[in-house]
Amino acid sequence: MIEQLTRLGYLLLILGAGGCSTQKDPVFHDQFFAFGTLIDITLYGAELPLAESVCKQIEQDFVNMHASWHAWQPGQLSSLNSQLSGAGAGTVEPSFLPLLDEANGLSLLSEGLFNPVLGNLIALWGFHDNALPVGTLPDSTAIRDLLVQAPSVNDIHIDGTLISSRNPTVAYDLGGFAKGYAIDRAIDRLRESGIHNAIVNAGGDLRAIGQHGERPWRIGIRHPRESSIIASIEISGDNSVFTSGDYERFFEVDGKRYHHIIDPRTGYPAINTTSVTVIHSNAATADAATTALFVAGPDEWLSIALKMGISYVMLIDNQGIIHMNPAMQSRIHLEPGINAEIRLSTPLQ
Ligand code: ADP
Ligand code: MG
Repeated sequence: MIEQLTRLGYLLLILGAGGCSTQKDPVFHDQFFAFGTLIDITLYGAELPLAESVCKQIEQDFVNMHASWHAWQPGQLSSLNSQLSGAGAGTVEPSFLPLLDEANGLSLLSEGLFNPVLGNLIALWGFHDNALPVGTLPDSTAIRDLLVQAPSVNDIHIDGTLISSRNPTVAYDLGGFAKGYAIDRAIDRLRESGIHNAIVNAGGDLRAIGQHGERPWRIGIRHPRESSIIASIEISGDNSVFTSGDYERFFEVDGKRYHHIIDPRTGYPAINTTSVTVIHSNAATADAATTALFVAGPDEWLSIALKMGISYVMLIDNQGIIHMNPAMQSRIHLEPGINAEIRLSTPLQ
């Protein structure tokens, strides 16, 4: 059985936040569900009527985006996927193009470790709709057959609104990227409305702009094996903090964990990492990067981070060793009592 572990609010510690904005309390808070998780918006210093109306608009945007980009329920993405596997080409609404362009570009930068067209493989693993019978693994021959076909964004050609593919096994699944892209759109909405101090948090993955009054925003990062935080980061200005972990969605067969981040080179869940945290300005890039660096693992994360232009990384490997670049180490505060081995890389900048 696949366990969907809801990411809890403790992932994000916003000092002094809570309640709705009033004359005395400058913090406005709104929450709703989308992308299978709790979306939590915190605004600092916004007028109440404006705060309420912008958050309503963002909620509507998220609901629409989630429905349209769903990898297996009927919507724009699933209709594109069936056209790509059938006729080999399909058209999309113009508003859909930047999403596909950005996902494809990030995949190329990650050398295909972030691969947004792995939908058929993700489905084989049962992560579309919890489809595998309890206690079973996907058929290894089906996995091998798909690997031989090697679905990749290199197979996709975009001409105006016409998307075509020379490989029928290509199927978009934007699960590793859509939340980040949606958060970027929410931040665009806030800025257009003149709101410049905010956090948009999707189940622990977030982008913050401005600051919390005189203080920076303070973000907690979940411990991959305990229900507590392992570290915190203070951020101000424009920063996204994203984490991918093997604890988010997984099932166990014979005591072994099979989680939802798949290594496109093996067809199996990536094995050497338990969590990756990235700080980056743009949320979509941060989201794709956490997925790619998770797959890259302790030996390859540095070279992929360089290629993707990521400057702050913390990766916890399957031995509990914490790998970081020096700039990340200078920003992160490990919780008291965390005495894991730390391996510092060469600088990323
Ligand atoms: P989460 O969504 O839990 O934050 P990720 O951002 O790492 O975690 O996204 C995991 C999701 O991305 C999976 O559920 C699946 O839909 C998709 N996915 C899995 N492996 C890959 C991969 N190698 N490249 C791109 N997307 C992937
Ligand atoms: Mg991701």
